[in-house]
Amino acid sequence: MNAIAEIQAFAEEMSTIRRDIHAHPEVGYNVHRTADVVASKLESWGLPVVRGVGKTGVVATLKRGSSNRAIGLRADMDALPMQEANDFAHRSTVEGAMHACGHDGHTTMLLGAARYLSASGDFDGTVHFIFQPAEEEGAGAQAMIDDGLFDRFPVDVVFGVHNWPGIPEGHFGVRAGPIMASTSLFKVILTGSGCHGAMPHLGEDPVFAAAQIVSSLQSILTRNKNPVEAAALSVTQIHAGEAQNVVPTHAWLGGTVRTFSDETLDLIESRMRAIVTSTAFGLGCRSEVEFSRNYPPTINDPEQTALAVQVMREVVGGHAVNASIQPTMAAEDFSFMLRAKPGCYAFIGNGTGDHREVGHGAGPCMLHNASYDFNDHLLPIGSTYFVRLVERFLNHG
Ligand SMILES: [Zn+2]
Ligand SMILES: [Zn+2]
Repeated sequence: MNAIAEIQAFAEEMSTIRRDIHAHPEVGYNVHRTADVVASKLESWGLPVVRGVGKTGVVATLKRGSSNRAIGLRADMDALPMQEANDFAHRSTVEGAMHACGHDGHTTMLLGAARYLSASGDFDGTVHFIFQPAEEEGAGAQAMIDDGLFDRFPVDVVFGVHNWPGIPEGHFGVRAGPIMASTSLFKVILTGSGCHGAMPHLGEDPVFAAAQIVSSLQSILTRNKNPVEAAALSVTQIHAGEAQNVVPTHAWLGGTVRTFSDETLDLIESRMRAIVTSTAFGLGCRSEVEFSRNYPPTINDPEQTALAVQVMREVVGGHAVNASIQPTMAAEDFSFMLRAKPGCYAFIGNGTGDHREVGHGAGPCMLHNASYDFNDHLLPIGSTYFVRLVERFLNHG
């Protein structure tokens, strides 16, 4: 590991900040206290801060030299609406809210980079430190963009990082091209006409139609989609009926679709609509499909990924960098920023979970698990990564 010595020297203070944010989780756009903490730290280091970008986002700016090149570094600030199972000292103090995705750590890593760069950074150009709300749900990144993020704080490139349990502590994983999937949700509503369960010929059965549709939808992945393109389609809900001897009038299905390209997503949506409409019609039912596209795929720019990989190797050594990590079907709203600007989104290993203090709940510690905790050992490494990206991208040429 090659964390910058000055950053290592304030690692304990970073840990204190991270644990304070962990103990006070805020969900969605309601990240008021967290934004206060972030803004007041940034201001105490002499950085001009703009608040309320995309409702509760925070942007700080640092300019050196004469170059008009600019880099954006982004962290997410929001927690999840779930109950924490841990009972160590810095556990959540808010009922039904928890930092189970490590955004407390992402925020602190970016603060550490801002602190170091404001005091001693050696670069020529502008850095915008971007702290966004509502990553988990609500598309906070898009809200900031809609609020003029990249017009008010123009950047050439943008970078972000997410901790990842299971990757060894402090290792990096990244890849050029798609690294995380698009996420969409669908609901299929079927309407027949109810009747006696003993006399099914007197009605139209939405349960039967639903069963046919659940099976047929999988044919999109095996018969319509190009086999070399990855995608997931999961029906996760079936709702119908009240009594065992009544054919109900209504049934509905719910589920999610994940893809790595818009073309595959377009195909899946259109085939889904065709299968639902024709199957329901053939079985005498009416149908409706609600299909909502939430986050697009997260696609890394090859040139900026190469820069990120070079920096990672400098920071943690080549043995600790996987530059062709397998993409994940999970989604991330940094994808909106990567649609607007070239850049790179990477994973930093959160380790096996052994870092968790006494009092962590049972079970493994994948993201969104009630026993999860961010690994504070990553704070100086993540900050160093951000700093070195700035120094490489905004070098003196
Ligand atoms: Zn999450
Ligand atoms: Zn997350």
